[in-house]
Amino acid sequence: MAFKLPDLAYAFNALEPHIDAHTMEIHHDKHHNAYVTNLNNAIAGTDAEHMSIEDICKNISKLPAPVRNNGGGHYNHSLFWSILGPNAGGNPSGKLADAINAAFTSFDKMKEEFNKAATTRFGSGWAWLLVHDGKLTISSTPNQDNPLMDIAEVKGTPIMGLDVWEHAYYLHYQNRRPDYINAWWNVVNWTAVAARYEEATK
Ligand code: MN
Repeated sequence: MAFKLPDLAYAFNALEPHIDAHTMEIHHDKHHNAYVTNLNNAIAGTDAEHMSIEDICKNISKLPAPVRNNGGGHYNHSLFWSILGPNAGGNPSGKLADAINAAFTSFDKMKEEFNKAATTRFGSGWAWLLVHDGKLTISSTPNQDNPLMDIAEVKGTPIMGLDVWEHAYYLHYQNRRPDYINAWWNVVNWTAVAARYEEATK
């Protein structure tokens, strides 16, 4: 029961001009695909072969480094594609918006804190909006770690993640990570993030 590369729910060029088609194609078909292949190779013949990707993350301290790197890579990218889309951006609404206001005072303050986490993550990693003890919070992780992992500094259920590896933006933005981060907000699918929030808090 090997893991599979999930299809994108939209075309490679659907997120333009914010994320270009060439970046999307390489990121999905090459980078994410390699995480899936390497994860399957790393778990073949081990107990992890029969675990969900969530359970692999939650027990990552007991698993070898290639499972941490590639299992995290598979989980993180699957989440990333699912919370993006065309005709997106704008502001969250409903219970998610209420929870953001409760935790950060406003959507703008949340964005500010998230942007800081994404901008200041040194080298490769991710910024996260997650549910931690029933409340929303922001964190960042190095490499392909994520908040589900038992080794994470801030643990919880991620509902939104931003990939700040150079492979996510370098072709179009080169070294201008802040420009990529600002543009990325235009392709966040708040309906998808809200659904993850509902799931994480029910
Ligand atoms: Mn990536």
